[in-house]
Amino acid sequence: MGSDCLFCRIVAGEIPATVVRETDTTLAFRDIDPKAPVHVLVVPKEHYADVATLAQGDPALAADVLATSAAVAEDEGLLGDGFRLMFNTGGYGGQEVFHVHAHLLGGAPLGPMLA
Ligand code: ADP
Repeated sequence: MGSDCLFCRIVAGEIPATVVRETDTTLAFRDIDPKAPVHVLVVPKEHYADVATLAQGDPALAADVLATSAAVAEDEGLLGDGFRLMFNTGGYGGQEVFHVHAHLLGGAPLGPMLA
């Protein structure tokens, strides 16, 4: 995808981000407009538009995104109290950046899902 995609540009180091974890296949960085005390986005380095495309196209890479999310949750001290891991997908899902990303949210009670 490359230059048209915001998160590809973050992966390429062309746009700054606060990176909290990097693996060979994934990058985790803090959301620029956090909706919770901890709000980290976890992306595959390779471009997939959304979680359905990723899960169907490369299930092992989807598992890498989950494993990185769990590692960040542990690093951020979220495992005891719990956290939310969310993939907004498509129009009804409220997705605005079409490079698949897991929202990792925690650090306070998050309330009902659709509030
Ligand atoms: P929504 O904005 O409805 O949550 P998405 O699920 O597509 O839609 O999420 C995109 C997320 O990317 C938003 O939480 C937004 O704050 C975040 N974001 C946008 N630009 C940047 C950036 N440069 N660095 C980090 N996070 C960003």
